[in-house]
Amino acid sequence: MALFSTYNRLPVSVKQAEGTIVEDIDGKKYLDFGSGIGVVNLGHRNPAVQEAVEKQLNSYWHVSNLYHVPIQEEVATQITKHSVGDYVFFCNSGAEANEAAIKLARKVTGKKTVITFKQSFHGRTFATMAATGQEKVKDGFGPMLESFVYATYNDITSVQHKVDENTAAIMLEVIQGEGGVIPADTTFLAQVSELCKEKNILLIVDEIQTGMGRTGKKFAYEHYGIEPDIFTLAKGLGNGLPVGAMVAKKEYAHAFGPGSHASTFGGNPIAMAAAKAVTETIFTDEFLQDVKEIATYLSEQLIENIQPLAYVKEIRQKGMMIGIACHAPVAPIMQKMLDKGVFVLNAGESVIRLLPPLVVTKKEIDQVVGLLKETIESL
Ligand SMILES: *Cc1c(COP(=O)(O)O)cnc(C)c1O
Repeated sequence: MALFSTYNRLPVSVKQAEGTIVEDIDGKKYLDFGSGIGVVNLGHRNPAVQEAVEKQLNSYWHVSNLYHVPIQEEVATQITKHSVGDYVFFCNSGAEANEAAIKLARKVTGKKTVITFKQSFHGRTFATMAATGQEKVKDGFGPMLESFVYATYNDITSVQHKVDENTAAIMLEVIQGEGGVIPADTTFLAQVSELCKEKNILLIVDEIQTGMGRTGKKFAYEHYGIEPDIFTLAKGLGNGLPVGAMVAKKEYAHAFGPGSHASTFGGNPIAMAAAKAVTETIFTDEFLQDVKEIATYLSEQLIENIQPLAYVKEIRQKGMMIGIACHAPVAPIMQKMLDKGVFVLNAGESVIRLLPPLVVTKKEIDQVVGLLKETIESL
């Protein structure tokens, strides 16, 4: 055993995967209702993505950012055409995208403090670990990078109390993912956005989990009528290939000039080929309409079959991002669902999190909801 045991792994050894199904080395098949933690939104080895990647594999893999890599411009244009952003920096993960956002915010404003939120999750690097409002993520790694302060989510007064002349940015998830699938209140986000404008503070929205069609919109900020100054993407952007992006408005482009920030692999052509196919698929009205319809169906099934169970406290859902808050730890539910051939996620101790592939069928939903009901009832 040569791997660090940084992950608490479930007893499944993967052999292959296609669409919504993962197969293990013993030939057992699992319905994947976690999508690799919100990554393979279009299903495993989505044919359009696979074709684009194979084509790029036969063209070139890497030349570095010393040269123009035209496919980067194509993906950046796809993202900016479909969002409030104007410029994109490509990197390889969510944490790196947030690092870039924090660096840009400090450079643009000349100020240092970033307000984030309790229960938030922004990554595991030093800056993003400091940004994360969960002690368990930081345990043993101090001292933390300074100038991060934590407000209470959905409480505008607590945000107002944290703002001062040093505040560079307010950074948030519009639906806290790892923190338990907790959506922001519409008024709260409107007030945060207003406060940012008033005090010249940048609003950074971490869309790493909520973006790329997950909630039924291209980006989840669209549900709230707010415009982030900066937003970040990763997870679903490459449908399984590692890619992250930091997207910002044109007013801030000057702060990221030549030599200011870089990544050797950032904008890697293979990852870009995947991202291009992903954006071309997801950023269409027809696709997003289908996501909304299947999400409505899933919602109806959950309300009818899961909500009434005594074990269940509350169901929180935005599109295809679902948190089932329970009265007790959910680890046994995850294990039993695994035995029955279904991957589900948790978010903290007592929340089951479902992030099904956006292309899931009604039949697959019926199957999973049935098994979930049976499992919870058996406890
Ligand atoms: C997963 C996640 C991250 C971190 O992404 P990595 O690719 O693991 O670095 C950051 N923010 C949010 C909201 C996430 O869900």
